[in-house]
Amino acid sequence: MKESQQLILSNMAWAAEQHHFDPDFFTRQIRGQRPEFLWIGCSDSRVAPDQITQSPPGGLYIHRNIGNLVYGSDLNLMAVVQYAIDVLEVNDVILCGHYGCSGIVAALDDSAKGPTHDWLSNLRTVYDDHRAEIDALPDRESKVNRLVEYNVRAQLIHLAATPPVAGAFAAGRRLTLHGWVYDLRDGLLKPLMDINAASDLRALAKLESVLL
Ligand SMILES: [Zn+2]
Repeated sequence: MKESQQLILSNMAWAAEQHHFDPDFFTRQIRGQRPEFLWIGCSDSRVAPDQITQSPPGGLYIHRNIGNLVYGSDLNLMAVVQYAIDVLEVNDVILCGHYGCSGIVAALDDSAKGPTHDWLSNLRTVYDDHRAEIDALPDRESKVNRLVEYNVRAQLIHLAATPPVAGAFAAGRRLTLHGWVYDLRDGLLKPLMDINAASDLRALAKLESVLL
C-alpha cells in the first residue's frame, strides 16, 4: 500500500464516524460556510489551526504561508482577507506565529535559498528593525523566539494597513485583528496584541514577551 493511501483510508474512517455521530453533518456542510474567524498562520505541519483550537469543519477560514507573513502584494492573501471580511463577514482575524519557527531561524541565519529566501525578505526587515535587542539575547532559542514575537507584531501592523482591513476599519465595521503565538512546548496559544479601528498604528507600545 502506498503511504498516501493511508490518508484515503483515514478519510473514509473520519467520514463514516461523522455520519454515525451526526447524520445531518454533511447536509449542513453542503448549505455553505459561515466561519467566525479568519486564521493566518505558518505552514508548519505542527501548528494545525483546526486541531489546536478544536474548531469543527466550517469554523475557521484559513490562509497559511512560511512564517505567517503579510505582503500587500500577495494576491493570494489579499483575496483571502477581502473575501473573509466582505463576503464571509468575519469580525475577528487571527494572525498566529509559533515559537521554534524554521522560517524565523532561516531569516536569522540568512540560510534560505531560492524562492524561500525571496519570500522571507519581510522577515529579515523585522530582524533588522530589532537586531540590537535580539542579538544581545544570551542564547539562540531566545533570539529565535523573540523574533517570532516581533514578527507577529510587524505582520499584524502590515495586515491592518492592507486595503481590505483599512477599508473595513474606515467603514466602521466591527473588526479586530489578534496577534497570537503558539507554543510548541505546551500546545498553548499566547495572545500578544490586538488591533482594531481605534488603534493608532504609529503609537503601538513596545512588545512585551509572552514566552515564559
Ligand atoms: Zn513556522
